[in-house]
Amino acid sequence: MSEFELRVHPHRRYNPLTQEWVLVSPHRARRPWQGQVEPTPSETSLAYDPNCYLCPGNERAGGAKNPPYKSTFVFDNDFAALRPDTPAGEFRERELLLARSESGQCRVVCFSPRHDLTLARMSVEEIRAVVDTWCGESLKLGGNPDVRSVQIFENRGAMMGCSNPHPHGQIWANESVPDELAREVAAQQSYFQKHKSSLLEDYLRLELEKKERLVYANEHFVAVVPFWAVWPYETLLISRRRISSMLELQEQERDDLAQILRELTIRYDNLFKTLFPYTMGFHQRPTGQAPYPEFHLHAHFYPPLLRSATVKKFMVGYEMLAMPQRDIAPELAAAQLRELPGIHYLDAL
Ligand SMILES: [Zn+2]
Ligand SMILES: [Zn+2]
Repeated sequence: MSEFELRVHPHRRYNPLTQEWVLVSPHRARRPWQGQVEPTPSETSLAYDPNCYLCPGNERAGGAKNPPYKSTFVFDNDFAALRPDTPAGEFRERELLLARSESGQCRVVCFSPRHDLTLARMSVEEIRAVVDTWCGESLKLGGNPDVRSVQIFENRGAMMGCSNPHPHGQIWANESVPDELAREVAAQQSYFQKHKSSLLEDYLRLELEKKERLVYANEHFVAVVPFWAVWPYETLLISRRRISSMLELQEQERDDLAQILRELTIRYDNLFKTLFPYTMGFHQRPTGQAPYPEFHLHAHFYPPLLRSATVKKFMVGYEMLAMPQRDIAPELAAAQLRELPGIHYLDAL
């Protein structure tokens, strides 16, 4: 198949990181839409909300009171899915019923004391403080011998199930390596053994040559719509240098990570002139003593919006039973994002 045919004919694309396929139907991108239209999310203009459990000085549901913090603020989730004091145990019956105890820790990271901000509307310096917090938490949580994985993520917007607009993310650390990370570790290891080079380093080189899926790049980071993107405007953020975790980020790289996060989230918001919902998160190597020379630090952005602020993509039917499918070609999505202005629509007024 030629690259041209990839833009017009149905085909499937392979994701070498997860070793899964996605069905691409570029000819369907213009089909009429009669499905669900999501309400436009109301945008908050309150710098401080007395009813928000994340704002400085406010009381949380568990009774704890937030300090009058001025930059970032981290605390243990009051309703944590994982607990560090979980007793070890296993339940097993034949090969069919299997359960294991799972210990861990769930942290909440407030990005800013300002209730009305988002990453896209924070300064590079302010986002840099968030990056430093992620690095510090990775070091602290990953240094615990009972922890094997530190998962940093952000759920943004009510559409993604995030009910509080206060800018914040989460960090879950647990004693086993979660499946998604385990798949990517295995794929990168087998690629490394076969080619004597790293999967994402080779992929990044290819994308920098072709340029058609590039969204934004600075000296230390590159954002692309990956060749195998499942979500309409999914992006992959890759560090140019092959480093395996947040802990290896140098000063300049931390600055550039903050800068590209800002540029990328501004373009997302500008696409449909809305505070773009998404789930984003970093993949870094499993923690512990073993080296992972093949592992390459990166972040995934999975935004659900399809064609406007109110029409989202559903992962149902064929996607739940067979494999994911997309209509708009990743190359077209990348071009749309790339060509958007780098000034936030709310600040351009
Ligand atoms: Zn708040
Ligand atoms: Zn990943």
